[in-house]
Amino acid sequence: MSQNQTLFERAQRVIPGGVNSPVRAFRAVGGTPRFITRGDGAYIHDADGQRYIDYIGSWGPMILGHGHPAVLEAVISAAREGFSYGAPTEREIELAEEILKLVPSMEQVRLVSSGTEATMSAIRLARGATGRSKFIKFEGCYHGHTDALLVKAGSGLATFGHPTSAGVPEEVAQHTLVLEFNHLAQLEEAFLLHGKSLACVIIEPIAGNMNFVRTQVAYMKRLRELCTEYGALLVLDEVMTGFRVGLHSAQGHYAQLIPGFKPDISVFGKVIGGGMPLAAFGASREIMKHLAPLGGVYQAGTLSGNPVATACGLATLREIQKPGFFEALTAKTRSLVDGLAAVAKENGVPFSVDCEGGMFGFFLMDKLPQEYQTVMTTDKERFNHFFHAMLDAGVYLAPALYEAGFVSAAHSDADIAATLAAAKHALR
Ligand code: PMP
Repeated sequence: MSQNQTLFERAQRVIPGGVNSPVRAFRAVGGTPRFITRGDGAYIHDADGQRYIDYIGSWGPMILGHGHPAVLEAVISAAREGFSYGAPTEREIELAEEILKLVPSMEQVRLVSSGTEATMSAIRLARGATGRSKFIKFEGCYHGHTDALLVKAGSGLATFGHPTSAGVPEEVAQHTLVLEFNHLAQLEEAFLLHGKSLACVIIEPIAGNMNFVRTQVAYMKRLRELCTEYGALLVLDEVMTGFRVGLHSAQGHYAQLIPGFKPDISVFGKVIGGGMPLAAFGASREIMKHLAPLGGVYQAGTLSGNPVATACGLATLREIQKPGFFEALTAKTRSLVDGLAAVAKENGVPFSVDCEGGMFGFFLMDKLPQEYQTVMTTDKERFNHFFHAMLDAGVYLAPALYEAGFVSAAHSDADIAATLAAAKHALR
């Protein structure tokens, strides 16, 4: 038996499903999850000594690849000084300053330990600041596993909250209105019906939790207008896109396309922690003053602003600001997706791709889908087959068709070429 299998069986005895986060279990694609022993640069290695070109990058954070020397040095030196104090440190200010410098829509930021915590707190803040309860989310967008956000449900316009997870009472989800992504008429109608009681609308600007689906520019523009008109706050969940699709995140891209565009509240995670548990949410001073200890919206955390995590995040953010960083990363990602599209075309496989910065998605269909239902019509069998053929060839893609992929600065042209060679074989 392989070491991966042995470990998976052992894990299943003591950890539900053998994993600490469901998608790692390979349920969607079948087969044995790989137990990772170490990562270096663009590669991860499993318990059987197999090396993989890593296109997950811990689901986004590892934008510099694994074990980047400057980040490693910062983490080791911070750890030597202490792991956690439960008292403020200067590095938290430095990280906050660094984030705010790159995201002009925010004047203040609060650091937390996970994306889930950050979105949960952003919703609470929006509710506290507006004095309203209801909010809109979109089908196919994932914002962490907070109760009120674990609602996907049959979209349907006036349908409030049917929890998609057991253990979430209907009452908890009753204020969550779920709409179809990119469906303008539905959005207009929802605001007409509920606009005055909406605390906020939360959206992934590029939905990485249904692979890679952009919010259409006209849709984002109208969403911003409607929020302003009805006094609802626009919350951009940039946990995945933040500092990943560009130095100024997805909101930077939309601000270039929609004059004056900015969200009211932004949520970050993944890259800002560089692989350590760190996330953040921020807004104008006017909105942030509602947070404890200044205001009545309570929010706290024993490990919030952790000294080792902030060192890791800060070193990462400094690296990605070096001249030419995003240009090079974008070119690399572009060459990967263009190459994949060409290989698919040669083999007559329906295929569409999109990317921004170091984030990409591909679909086994001719046209890029614009919402969740279409994403889910992907030929699953074919995807699973492709996934396993790539894995066998040493290329680690996300083990589910509705997940985005990530390229790091450590991926070389040779890695991209090897990936395309593997894809050629797999798609044949
Ligand atoms: N929001 C988005 C857009 C995400 O992609 C994720 C996680 N993939 C989360 C929130 C939750 O973050 P975490 O897993 O750190 O709780």
